[in-house]
Amino acid sequence: MFRIQASLRLTCRHARTLATHAPQPQALTAAVRHDWQKTEIQKIYDTPLLELVFRAAAIHRQHHDPSKIQLCTLMNIKTGGCSEDCSYCSQSSRYSTPTTASRLLEVEPVLEAARKAKANGSTRFCMGAAWRDLAGRKRGFERILHMVREVRGMGMEVCTTLGMLSPEQARQLKEAGLTAYNHNLDTSREFYPEVITTRSYDERLDTISAVRDAGISVCSGGILGLGETDKDRVGLIWEVSSMPEHPESFPVNALVPIEGTPLENNEPIPYHTLLRTVATARIVLPQTIIRLAAGRQTLDESKQAMCFMAGANAIFTGEQMLTTPCSPWDEDKAMMDRWGLEGMQSFEQVNVARKEGDRLEDIPDAKAANTDA
Ligand code: SF4
Repeated sequence: MFRIQASLRLTCRHARTLATHAPQPQALTAAVRHDWQKTEIQKIYDTPLLELVFRAAAIHRQHHDPSKIQLCTLMNIKTGGCSEDCSYCSQSSRYSTPTTASRLLEVEPVLEAARKAKANGSTRFCMGAAWRDLAGRKRGFERILHMVREVRGMGMEVCTTLGMLSPEQARQLKEAGLTAYNHNLDTSREFYPEVITTRSYDERLDTISAVRDAGISVCSGGILGLGETDKDRVGLIWEVSSMPEHPESFPVNALVPIEGTPLENNEPIPYHTLLRTVATARIVLPQTIIRLAAGRQTLDESKQAMCFMAGANAIFTGEQMLTTPCSPWDEDKAMMDRWGLEGMQSFEQVNVARKEGDRLEDIPDAKAANTDA
């Protein structure tokens, strides 16, 4: 009896010691803030890595179901021949790369790809077109609006990335049923001119404002490995944290250097830097979906799992990213099974559902998913 009591006392004392040293999730900043200072974000970013992951995991659990990962499939509906000079991109016509230019795809092959993605468990379908903007592309835009309507009618979330948008174009996309629009800031305002010169940071922010004002969810993140510093990664997170609404989705891409581009010889971003960026984004943007995007296939399963622990909760899955490889559905499903993860339903994310309003009533699958959530 004495031994049991002594052992209990020891256990309790040990538990108290741990409790004193472990950060208390309740005490952490869980509110959605728009007034972050760069120095505060830098301090979070500089936290010892495992401590940072622990804190991010605690925040993640306050705002998200940690067992859910959003599966998104990306399709390039118009490849290459782009007039912009993004120095990482194989689709820029300014660089000699293996990517060949093609015209905008017809509607049916795109719908076929969306059906396949849905059958494989993807709940968001994203269509990308390589061009600066939609100027002079009236018929092409109408075709894209048609694609958006049809994919939405399948009960999937629909995303596009079509370059710069005017408020009127954003309104038309919203009316067609677009869920989200991807327009990455790529990096900090300070480093941006080293990467792109043909459109300004403010032009990017204008497109993001037009999307947000039209009631479409914003997907905007960055690319790591462009040659930026820690300060730039912090600057990027700060920039999106200062928006009137945090982006619904923050993609974290690891540069896949493409032969023929100015960044072809860049060193890969170290894994701990990627993880640190994911965890910092999770803490600063607590309700945002943090999306592991390009370069994920270079991370082995345990590295990806650590990113999920740190708050990443979306992946691109399927046959291909825009121009770089992607992990196939069966591999991703097997990985998720092993780690006790499952796919998010369409419109399950509360901010996305809120923006859809009554329109969800028209889509049986989405309505059921939203009711289940
Ligand atoms: S990233 Fe987009 S805008 Fe930039 S060159 Fe590539 S396709 Fe064009």
